[in-house]
Amino acid sequence: MRDRAGTDGHGSDSHPALLTVLSGPSGVGKTTLAAHVREAHPEVWLSVSATTRTPRPGEVHGVQYFFYDRPTFEDLIAKGEFLEHAEYAGNLYGTPRQPVEQRLDAGQPVLLEIELQGARQIRTTMPEARLVFLAPPTWEVLEQRLRGRGTEPEDVIARRLAVGRIELAAEPEFDVTIVNTTVEEAAAELVQLVTEPVARA
Ligand code: 5GP
Repeated sequence: MRDRAGTDGHGSDSHPALLTVLSGPSGVGKTTLAAHVREAHPEVWLSVSATTRTPRPGEVHGVQYFFYDRPTFEDLIAKGEFLEHAEYAGNLYGTPRQPVEQRLDAGQPVLLEIELQGARQIRTTMPEARLVFLAPPTWEVLEQRLRGRGTEPEDVIARRLAVGRIELAAEPEFDVTIVNTTVEEAAAELVQLVTEPVARA
């Protein structure tokens, strides 16, 4: 684990960072890791995001996501119902504000699993949050994941790889990096971070 706490100039308190944001490049395994944490550590509350994308087989409204049509989602944005929101691959995604604030007020650790634009918004609006970057063990591992099953045309793969390189370059913006070597090890590191106080210099 690479820890940049104390070097980011975000205040001098040593209160627990109850809000943790897990982000990182597409394909690195954020969702698998977050699901693992949810099952193994129910004391950590994993936020359920809203999205305009179509549910995948097996996804249930209110469990993996709240699925809304675009006008409904835009109405929620206008009403200030999201802590952050972003457009990703043609769909809107956002973190419902109220359930997160309720848990934080009750002192429960909260984990958000979101893409980079949303993480940057949280950095600005909630500077006390701890931002965790999930990194692949090597570029080759991420490349394999982004190439997928090899059924996509080369131009689609090239675009994904270019985006992957840009996303990887965001790592220094984060407080801590966890390398996703195995999901068990990464989950143990993440849970330790989520439930322990942060000591910022
Ligand atoms: P997917 O459609 O594959 O479930 O998610 C696509 C991307 O959206 C992933 O990188 C995921 O982390 C991100 N994402 C999921 N929920 C949110 C959210 O509430 N806000 C933001 N900014 N990104 C999200």
